[in-house]
Amino acid sequence: LKTTFKPLRDLAKHTGRIARAAASGERIADTLAEATPVEDRSWARPLPPRRRGVASGAVDLQGVTFGYGADPPVLEGADLHIRAGERVAVVGPSGAGKSTLFNLVLRFCEPHDGQIRLDGHDVQNLTLTSLREACAVVLQESAIFAGDLADNVRLGRLDATDDQVERALREAALGSLVDRSEHGIHQQVSEKGSTLSGGQRQRLAIARALLREPRLLLLDEPTTGLDEHNRIEVVAALRRLAEGRTTILVTHDHDLLDLADRVVELRDGIFVERGVPGRDPDPRPGARPRTSLTTGGRR
Ligand code: ADP
Ligand code: MG
Repeated sequence: LKTTFKPLRDLAKHTGRIARAAASGERIADTLAEATPVEDRSWARPLPPRRRGVASGAVDLQGVTFGYGADPPVLEGADLHIRAGERVAVVGPSGAGKSTLFNLVLRFCEPHDGQIRLDGHDVQNLTLTSLREACAVVLQESAIFAGDLADNVRLGRLDATDDQVERALREAALGSLVDRSEHGIHQQVSEKGSTLSGGQRQRLAIARALLREPRLLLLDEPTTGLDEHNRIEVVAALRRLAEGRTTILVTHDHDLLDLADRVVELRDGIFVERGVPGRDPDPRPGARPRTSLTTGGRR
């Protein structure tokens, strides 16, 4: 695991900002916030609410250049345009900058040049809280906090009722977890996951994301490291979560790639169009052709 994920609780230690920290989701690059704190601009405004019945979550990167500190740029003049409602897979070698893309969209770091827009709004002009609340993130490993299962899920939306929490858990295929304890959604879970399997932890993160109803869903290798049984369950839950939702999906998992409308490859600092799964050659470098992708039965 290249990046480490600091529990939100550590963030929350600083003053009474627990709600804010929780709302901002899990940080993707850990060391970043300390090195280069990103703060609201004095002119920052909240992201305006979605209009009912109008697809949202469009992402536009225009000429984005970014590198960490004095390192060479990770992105260099990168363009990426994702329409509202579209699901785009981003592939590319390790270290290409896929997670960095998420850091930039969520404004954990800021471009040196170029612009990033969410639904037409330059993210630099948005309050961090409203930007991050509009997005949900599922990472390779999801942070769980010792305590109540419901409270863990409620990090997705702090004002959610118990009923809403339970519905999200069941939709994320954690109904059997709820049912196995007499305490239901109020059973205790432990931080290091001794009470939850890797797949259950991922589904808990999915339940959080479901509860949030994000306009933009960011998935960063969410099935990596799971055993086959858990992987299949997590893919199914992610498929429901991504349904009809703008999604940027970083994965090399065939089954997950299959839910993308389009694949782009991040290579040498820019995004290169790799086509549509099922219609074009397999987008993964060195991949064998895969006939089941061509049936298109699931889209
Ligand atoms: P990917 O997700 O595609 O594997 P990353 O976005 O994690 O790639 O990393 C892109 C490059 O930026 C790599 O060279 C990585 O070492 C570097 N990098 C990532 N996070 C940080 C950080 N917090 N500080 C410094 N360099 C970083
Ligand atoms: Mg990564």
